[in-house]
Order: sequence, then structure tokens, then C-alpha cells
Amino acid sequence: MMKIPPGNLASSECLFCKIVAGDIPANRVYEDEFCIGFPDINPQAPTHLLIVPKHHITSIAKAEAGHAALLGSLMSAAAEIARGEKLSKGYRIVVNTGDDGGQTVNHLHLHLLGGRHMNWPPG
Ligand code: AMP
Ligand code: ZN
Repeated sequence: MMKIPPGNLASSECLFCKIVAGDIPANRVYEDEFCIGFPDINPQAPTHLLIVPKHHITSIAKAEAGHAALLGSLMSAAAEIARGEKLSKGYRIVVNTGDDGGQTVNHLHLHLLGGRHMNWPPG
């Protein structure tokens, strides 16, 4: 069992906390002790899933050493989901952070994008 990391267990005003709680529906294609995965409502690629920790942390900018296990579990979940989605040609994991990073939902999440070639640099 992972030690409870710093931050709030849930925020009643947070969209992704509501999805984690089941108050807003989402098609959970993945779930484990630490996170859930579900399709982005506005997909930017043939496969576009969000991987969201059950624990509320606002963004990666708030990460501390105590979050290390949680953050690692998000990345390994992304890899497991990508294998399940058969993204054998590759994919991109994105963590938008803050205003300049284009973050719109203030609950940490990974975007898993695949099924098409990704450009670099990103917009
Ligand atoms: P970001 O802009 O990185 O904060 O990503 C937030 C993402 O959440 C956007 O790509 C939205 O399309 C997505 N989103 C917003 N509301 C929902 C929802 N109810 N279900 C699934 N995805 C959502
Ligand atoms: Zn939240």
C-alpha cells in the first residue's frame, strides 16, 4: 500500500475528482488502485485517453518527493494502456502544465495520444 501523498484526497469542485467518484460518467478503459483511464471528450488523435490519479493533485508543478510512487504508477499505467490499445508504432504522453502549458483542468492528468504520426515541435 502506497503512503498517502501530499495534497487533498478529493476536491468537490474538480471535474476529474467528480469523474473519479463516478458523479460524472466516463468510460473507464483502465482502473487500478491509483488511477483511472478514460477517453478524452475532445480527441486530438485516433486514440486519445486521459490517465488521472484518484488522488487530487493540481498539476505536476505541485509534485514533491512524496508523490514519486503515484507519478510512477501513472506512467506504468500509460504503458499498459498503450499496449492494450495496440499502439505498437508509438504514441505520445503529454502533461500540460499551467497556463503556458495549455492546462485547462487543474487535476493532474496524462494525455495518451496515438494512432497517427505526432509532429515535433508541438504547437
Ligand atoms: P488539459 O487541457 O491538458 O488540462 O486537458 C484537459 C482535457 O480534458 C481536455 O483535452 C478535454 O477535452 C478533456 N475533458 C474535459 N472534460 C472532459 C470530460 N467530461 N470527459 C473526458 N474528457 C474531458
Ligand atoms: Zn481533482
